[in-house]
This record gives sequence, structure tokens and C-alpha cells, in this order.
Amino acid sequence: MNSDTLVSVQNLSRFYGDFCAVKNISFEVKRGQILGFLGPNGAGKTTTMQVITGTLAPTMGQISVAGYDILDDPLKAKAAIGYLPEQPPLYKEMLVEEYLRFCAKLHRIPRSDISNAIQHAMEQCGLQEVNRRLIGNLSKGYQQRVGIAQAIIHTPSVVILDEPTIGLDPIQIRDIRHLIRQLGEEHSVILSSHILQEVQAVCNHVQIINEGELIFNDSIDGLLSQMQSTHLQIALHRPPEIQQLKQIQGVEMVEVRENNRFYIQHTATESPAEALVEKSVEGNWGIYELIPEHRSLEQVFMTLMGADEVPPDSLLEKGENVTLEKGEGTLENGVNLKKMNGIKVNSIVEGA
Ligand code: ATP
Repeated sequence: MNSDTLVSVQNLSRFYGDFCAVKNISFEVKRGQILGFLGPNGAGKTTTMQVITGTLAPTMGQISVAGYDILDDPLKAKAAIGYLPEQPPLYKEMLVEEYLRFCAKLHRIPRSDISNAIQHAMEQCGLQEVNRRLIGNLSKGYQQRVGIAQAIIHTPSVVILDEPTIGLDPIQIRDIRHLIRQLGEEHSVILSSHILQEVQAVCNHVQIINEGELIFNDSIDGLLSQMQSTHLQIALHRPPEIQQLKQIQGVEMVEVRENNRFYIQHTATESPAEALVEKSVEGNWGIYELIPEHRSLEQVFMTLMGADEVPPDSLLEKGENVTLEKGEGTLENGVNLKKMNGIKVNSIVEGA
């Protein structure tokens, strides 16, 4: 572990009785990283976050925050963490500023620094105008901001946010995402989410957990590279013998479709697009369409999860709220969700 590693999780397992909710996972969070922690319901995200924050003891494994072991040096480790649980820990009968003062005292900020700490947290979270309002009277988005303000009031190195945008409207979601990106400039952030686009929009690193196991851990670019096309569709007015298409470098398989269209599978490293265009011009094949087929983020996610039935893009791009419980089911639009295995796909609203 080097000094840039702010969170180190090594071989963490957590049992509830006989049930293993988190299975021997290891990862690190570096300074300046905004880590998106993705996974379906019950995957083990909250359990992992609670262990990192010291709320829950690990059954096995070693966790350190800012170089302090969470079991051996809990006070120092916890002082380096700001945590917003899924249910924000708010006292709704308190005024915003009054509540933040209370949180500052809990974090043992020296009395002389408290006012500055409150002002800084309120500025960062855009709360100055509501500082004298009762928390219970604020909108959900503003209440979430207060929850984030209490998590950063002691300027921790690491901020952990459990599903921070759940239940917010699209404008509030946009504002909170903006706020999280800003937090990433001063803190390292771990953000759990069900929402693929949220992780793509906000995070620079992503890990996916499923049934307690870490199945993906890479940069956002690494995730996006999995969306790269390995198929393309070409349409030709005067197509050659299919054998000629198969001989082009990189082409693995050619399938004939209607109207002189061909569906071409190629190697991940070598797209035959340029060669196809050149050959088409040379051979006067009359090329009029060449479309690389990109995998959607949802398809990549489903593949990583081992789900063998992928819903059509149209379902996932409409911005619907879709909750898929275990077992079979058919949505109103007739899409069969059998084998989706309890994956909750929540509010997939592009650009929200
Ligand atoms: P969600 O997105 O629904 O919050 P999650 O990924 O955060 O899910 P966890 O809350 O960590 O998942 O739960 C992981 C598994 O552990 C689930 O199967 C859950 O039912 C189980 N679990 C969580 N807390 C307990 C507990 N206190 N006792 C027994 N089982 C638990």
C-alpha cells in the first residue's frame, strides 16, 4: 500500500450467521478517485461500506483508511471518513446550521474552527440560503445535501455515499451528481449506485459486485472499452461472393441478411471497416451502409453479471423505473424478464 492509497480492503469476508454476504474481496481506493460501486439488490454493497466505515466488523480480512487499521486504530481511521448512509442520519426538527454544528461537535472539531467548518460545508453543498430552515421542511434534494454536508464537515480524506441520488427528481439528481464531482476534487469518494449512467457520469473508476463477489474492477475507460464493437453491418448494392468478405483480415464470421445486408463479426483488436470500404470501391460493390454495432452499457453489465437474457435497448433507454425481482415476469411491453436474476435497473435516465 503506498501513500496514495486511502482505502485498502484485503480479503474481506462478512457472514450473517451462515450466510456469506461478502466473499473474500480486495480493492484499493487511491487519492482523487471517485469509485462507483455497482451491483444489484443484495449484492453486498452496503455491507462492504459499513465494514469500511467501521459500523460493522469484518468476519475476515483487513481494512485500513488513510493508513489506519479500522480495528486496531478505529478513531483515527473513522476520523478520515465521511459517511452518508442510504437513509441520511438527519434530525428533521433541527435547523440546518444547528444540525451541522451538532455534527461538527460529534466529529470533535475544535470549538474555534466550528463556524468555519460549517460555512465551508454549507458553501460546498449550496446550503447557505437554507441555513435557518428546519431540515424537515426542506425538499428531498436539499435534505440529501444536508446529509452530504454532515459527511464532509470534518474534511475527511474519504467520503462514502450509499445510493445518494435514490428517490430524487431528475433536477435534484443532476445537482447532487455535480456536487459529487466537485467533492472528488478535494476528497476520494466511494459511491454506491444501481444506476449505470450515474457511475459513468460521475466516477473515474468502477467496480461491480454480484452475490458478494467482485466481478469487475477497472477505470471507466476500461468499462467503456468493453462496449467496443465486435460486429458491424454492411449493405452493398452489388455484393461479391460471401467468400470474398470472409477473406478480409479481421473478419471472423459473415451472416447474410435481407436486402444485400451482411452482419459481420470481427476480432476485438482489428476492425475490417476500412478494408471493407477499400475493397468495395475496388470491386464496385456499391457500399451504401456500414454500421458498427456498439454494446450498450447495460449489455456489458449483464454480460459481466452472467445474465443470459439481455433486454432490448429500447426498454432501458426510455428512462423507465424498472425493478426486476427474482423469478419470471413479463413487463407491460411484453419483454420477458425470466432469468434476469433479481437485477434492479433503476431510473435509467440518460443525461439526468
Ligand atoms: P441494496 O442495494 O438492496 O441495499 P446491497 O448490495 O447493499 O443491496 P447488502 O445490504 O449489503 O446488499 O446485503 C447483502 C446480503 O446480505 C443480502 O442478501 C442481505 O439480505 C443480507 N443481509 C444484509 N444485512 C443482513 C443482516 N443484518 N442479517 C442477515 N442478512 C443480511
